[in-house]
Amino acid sequence: MKLSKFFVPTQKEVPSDAFAASHILSIRAGLFRLLTSGVYSVLPLGVIVKNKVEKIIREEMNAIGGNEFLLPALSPNELWNETGRLDDFGDIIFRIKNRELVLAPTHEEVFTSIAKPYINSYKNLPQMWYQIQTKFRNEARPKSGVLRGRQFTMKDAYSFDSTWEGLDASYELQDKAYRNIFKRCGLKFFSVSASSGAMGGTRSEEFMVESDAGEDLIALSEDGKYASNIEVAESFVETVARKNSNLKYEELHTPAIKSIDELAGFLGITDKSHLAKSRVFVIPAKSENEKDKYLLALVCGDDEVNETKLMKYYGANIRPGHPEELLEITGADAGSIGPIGLKNNNVEIVADFRLQDADELISGANKNDYHIKNIDFKRDVPGIKYNDLRVVKEGEYTKDKSSKLRVAKAIEIGHIFKLGTKYSESLHATFLDKDGRENPIIMGSYGIGIERIIASHIEQNHDGNGIIWEGEIAPFKLILINITPQNEEITKFCETLYDELSAANIDVLYDDREDLRPGFKFKDADLIGIPVHVIVGEKNFKNNQIEIKIRKSGERIIIDKNDIRGKINELVNA
Ligand code: ATP
Ligand code: MG
Repeated sequence: MKLSKFFVPTQKEVPSDAFAASHILSIRAGLFRLLTSGVYSVLPLGVIVKNKVEKIIREEMNAIGGNEFLLPALSPNELWNETGRLDDFGDIIFRIKNRELVLAPTHEEVFTSIAKPYINSYKNLPQMWYQIQTKFRNEARPKSGVLRGRQFTMKDAYSFDSTWEGLDASYELQDKAYRNIFKRCGLKFFSVSASSGAMGGTRSEEFMVESDAGEDLIALSEDGKYASNIEVAESFVETVARKNSNLKYEELHTPAIKSIDELAGFLGITDKSHLAKSRVFVIPAKSENEKDKYLLALVCGDDEVNETKLMKYYGANIRPGHPEELLEITGADAGSIGPIGLKNNNVEIVADFRLQDADELISGANKNDYHIKNIDFKRDVPGIKYNDLRVVKEGEYTKDKSSKLRVAKAIEIGHIFKLGTKYSESLHATFLDKDGRENPIIMGSYGIGIERIIASHIEQNHDGNGIIWEGEIAPFKLILINITPQNEEITKFCETLYDELSAANIDVLYDDREDLRPGFKFKDADLIGIPVHVIVGEKNFKNNQIEIKIRKSGERIIIDKNDIRGKINELVNA
């Protein structure tokens, strides 16, 4: 590719809303351009990288028996209603106004609807299907460039099996393929156990890249054996010791005290573990005949309620109560809620394991400006249940006490799920087993974000001057920079070298642009991050020499003109 004909609009300016290195550099290097919030055009340099990522993915998917499909982005509302996901996805799903259609955020429904009429017998199973296709999600806060877009490219794969062991095997195959893909894409990654969210299913793992641009928090053990999304992470924590003092509970006047910190300050307490923090949640009714249910969740004052864990126990639709609801259910506003004297006596009360059978607790009195002290859960809150409700914290030990946890930011680049029969049951995609019995197909689903891989690669491979592509997804292996294009002899040499390298299938970019200062060309080469720079200019050429710069190390090598081909081969094949 010749730069004179290649549209790469590099720029010095940084988009005003860009903070992540990958966002800044992918715009500055001319890979992507913003069209409207969360929607990006992929420019020619971006397309080259994207194609390389997709090639790796295709090779690895085909190697595990994948069949490539291409499904439509539009799909009928009816199909999404059958699985209930039109509601589950809520505002995330883009709906077409003048048709009963949505722009699909994922494709479980459509793939299952294709399997349904054709996969009727265990003899048709297993199957591994995938596509590389555009997804649409009305993300609430599209940010960090293509890391979180409203339109993005995903490789999504689906496995269909007749047995649970078969699902395990398909999942293993995808897991291995994912590891190969991310390695070949030049990423330092790890996998964590994760929540299955709106997808449903039994087990899921996310592939993560540690980065400050990440929106996920992960808990990692120092010995490297435990890694988990904070949403589902567990740790070892001592329960709050029971004092058995049997003190009577009594009301405390706590004027204008709203938060746990204010309460601790007001009471002069530093250890907040005995201040029980209360939060009210609503579990919406599933049908018109049912009523909404209410839940009061209690954790220690120095802990936070983990809403993902609540979703796991009480359903994905559980939501925090609105301020008016809180008053109606408890009798007080958010700062004064507690387990005793709730206005509505149909509230399920659940506390974190740390508070199991604790006493001498202080919590809200369900009366504004009042709290109650000496609450004894065992004595005063009959029917209270206990569960793991808290968010783990940095410095805590793993559950088996073998190692300490650290909490880091990370980008999720891929996700694999054991779906089970959620979709096959709701869409009635069944097969006949060996004994002629009808069973729902057992499914898995596996996704990778293509642009997210590119952005993550940039997050992990850049410096102050630009991107530093590593390995297979580098758009070009080499940039040939002609710094004196007005010199005919040099230009002829460069053209010949360029033709030879292209003929040898080496991805080479030739900076043949005229009327540009050498410094400008060097800056562009650094910014777009080509690993090897071959610099041809008059001064060295006179002495039969050519300069090579290694982008990553900055190392410069002066080489005899006649040895250049050998050196290039050595460097691009390294
Ligand atoms: P997130 O938690 O980041 O929203 P998700 O759990 O919704 O991700 P999946 O539904 O599992 O993601 O999608 C599979 C993959 O698609 C993700 O691992 C990620 O690489 C990519 N992806 C998801 N949402 C986006 C987005 N808005 N922009 C770019 N890539 C995305
Ligand atoms: Mg999402």
